[in-house]
Amino acid sequence: MERTTIEGELPTDRDQALDRDLALALDRDDPLAPMRQAFLIPRHHDGSEQVYLVGNSLGLATVSTKSYVDTELDRWATLGVAGHFTGELAWAPYHELLTDQMAAVVGGRPEEVVVMNGLTVNLHLLLISFYRPTPERHKILIEDHAFPSDHFAVESQIRQRGFDPDDSLITVRPRPGSELLDHDDIMAAIEHHGPELAVVMLPGVQYYTGQVLPMADIVAAGNAVGAAVGFDLAHAAGNIELELHDWGADFATWCCYKYLNGGPGAVAGCYVHERHVADHSLPKLLGWWGTSKADRFDMATTFDPIPTVESWQLSNPPILMMAALRASLDTIDAAGGMSALRAKSERQIRYLDRLLELVVGDRVEAINPRPLDRRGCQFALEVTDPARDGKQVHGALEAAGVACDWRQPRVIRVAPVPLYNSFADIHRFVEILDGLV
Ligand SMILES: *Cc1c(COP(=O)(O)O)cnc(C)c1O
Repeated sequence: MERTTIEGELPTDRDQALDRDLALALDRDDPLAPMRQAFLIPRHHDGSEQVYLVGNSLGLATVSTKSYVDTELDRWATLGVAGHFTGELAWAPYHELLTDQMAAVVGGRPEEVVVMNGLTVNLHLLLISFYRPTPERHKILIEDHAFPSDHFAVESQIRQRGFDPDDSLITVRPRPGSELLDHDDIMAAIEHHGPELAVVMLPGVQYYTGQVLPMADIVAAGNAVGAAVGFDLAHAAGNIELELHDWGADFATWCCYKYLNGGPGAVAGCYVHERHVADHSLPKLLGWWGTSKADRFDMATTFDPIPTVESWQLSNPPILMMAALRASLDTIDAAGGMSALRAKSERQIRYLDRLLELVVGDRVEAINPRPLDRRGCQFALEVTDPARDGKQVHGALEAAGVACDWRQPRVIRVAPVPLYNSFADIHRFVEILDGLV
C-alpha cells in the first residue's frame, strides 16, 4: 500500500491544532473511517462515546463478536458432542479457521502459525524447544525492563534447567538519561555474549515506550552467533507490519486481546519458523492436539507429530474465545489488512505528534521514539512539570472520558488505533489534556 503523506494537511499553529474542523476533514478523507462502525465503543458516564485510546491494553469488541460466539453456543445447544465434527465450523479443526488470517498479521506462513493458549504459556512451550542450555552456551538475553511475565518465564526456565539466573539471565538496558534501547547496544550485547548465548528473547514493540526494535537485524545478529531468536509480539501484532518468516525469526508469541481485539483473555498466537516445524529433535511438551489429526481419535500412544507448528498444541482449544477472535480477524481483513491499517496509523501518529507539539509541547514530553520505523501507534507521555503528578493527570483524563492507561513509574500511554479511533478522538484527547496540565 502506498504511504500517503499527511504533512500538508497538518496544523501549523496552536489555533489550527485546536480547530476541530481540521480533525473532521481528516476523518472525511480517511478511507478506513467507516471501520469504526464495526466496533462497540464504550460510553462515558454522561452517555457520550469514550475517547478510547487504550487498545494497547484491551482492544474493543466488534459489533459481530457476539454473533460469532452465539453461533457456537447455538451449535453446542443443538449438536452437542457432534459439533466437534459437523459442518464448516466443526470444533475439532476449528483453530485452522484462524490460521491464514493470523499468519498474514505477523508475516508468517500458514504452517508456521497457530492460535493456542496464552502468551506466557506459549513462551514457556517455546523456550522448552529453543532453550537447550549447555555449560558453554546457557545465556538468555532479554531487556532490562522486560514485561514481568516475560522475565518470570525466562528466569524460571533457566532454573528448571539447573542454571542460575545470576549467570544466565543477561539484560540490555537503555543508556543513562534515555528510556529507549539503543540498537547498537543490542547488537553489542549479542556480540559480546556470542558463544555463551543460547536465546535472544526481545519484544517487537516495547510495552512502556512503544519502541519498535530492529527485528530483522536482531535475528541476523543472534543467529550469526549461534543463538535462537524469539520475539514477544504482545504490542506488535496488529499494530505494526511484521515479516517473521522473511526475517527468519526462530519463534514468537503474542496475545490477541490488545491490538487484535480478541477479547479479555483471548487465545494467543504462536509462531515457529518453517525450518524448525518438522524438526523432531527439538524437545517439546506433548499433548493429544499435537499428534496426527488422522489418528488422534485412535487413542494410540505413539506420538505422530503434525508436520507444522500445530504439533506444539497440547489441548483442544477454547472455541468460544476463538469465535470472538475470528470476528476480529475478519474485521482486520475487511479493513484491507495490516498494510492499510499501518498506513492510516502513520497518519494518526503524525497528527498526534503535531497536536502534542503545538498544544502541550511545553508541558508534556513524549518519550516514545520519533521516527515512524521505530514506533508503533502507542505514545508514552510524561508530564514535565515535576510539581504535577502524572498519575493524577491520568485520573483526570479518565474522569473526562478518555480511556488511557498509566504505567509506573512515569508515563501515560495512549494509543490511537486505526481500526476504530478517529482523528476527532485524537483532537478531543489533546483538547482535554491541554486543560489538565
Ligand atoms: C500484555 C503482555 C503480556 C501478557 O501476558 P499473558 O500471558 O497474555 O497474560 C506479556 N508480555 C508482554 C510484553 C505484554 O505486553
